[in-house]
Amino acid sequence: MDNLIYVIEDEENIRELIRLALESYSYKVETFETAEDGLAAINSKIPDLAIFDIMLPKMDGVTAVKLLRKKLRTANLPIIFLTAKGSEIDKVVGLDSGADDYIAKPFGVLELSARVRSLLRRSHKNVFYEDEANEEENIVAGNVTLDVNKREFVRGKTRILLTPKEFNLLSYLILNKEKAISREELLSNVWHVDFIGDSRTLDMHVRSLRQKLGAENAGLIKTVRGIGYRFVIDD
Ligand code: CA
Repeated sequence: MDNLIYVIEDEENIRELIRLALESYSYKVETFETAEDGLAAINSKIPDLAIFDIMLPKMDGVTAVKLLRKKLRTANLPIIFLTAKGSEIDKVVGLDSGADDYIAKPFGVLELSARVRSLLRRSHKNVFYEDEANEEENIVAGNVTLDVNKREFVRGKTRILLTPKEFNLLSYLILNKEKAISREELLSNVWHVDFIGDSRTLDMHVRSLRQKLGAENAGLIKTVRGIGYRFVIDD
């Protein structure tokens, strides 16, 4: 594989550890010490995946990723955050920080490579969808459609652009429509990581998704007490 990965990390030891680990899996790796340098590199050549440390000398990783998400060209760039344990994790997990995954320091190189591989696999699937999808592949339930080309929620005249995570969460619920899906199932299938019994991130994402969909659509995602969530068909 010749995927290009950018690593933005100011600590030299960690930066070089990641480089060695990923190069041993035949990824091409470029490293940057600041968010500013990383952003400039991404603007001139978009990599297949970027790994951002959160605490960086000037602009922090979360701010940098928010900037990338605002631009159409990089809205779907697969991104992993590196975080220190504790309050930084809350920041990444709790808010819709725009990353697809995160890894807490200290981490093992096997874990890192596994996360990178898994995220690349998922994002290549998305690219495939973008190239090959046609109307029939849209996800439909009642009068709600998920447009897989445009990553939009469509109901009547309403079209709402979703983030990759929102799209994945909503498609999982819709594909399992009318079934109560447990938090654990959603976390492992949408986030692909165990949050060690902590489902706050899921609840916050559902809350922000309902807000984004607006009052008239918020009721499509029902809370099932003690279990999780259920998408209800609405004709
Ligand atoms: Ca740092």
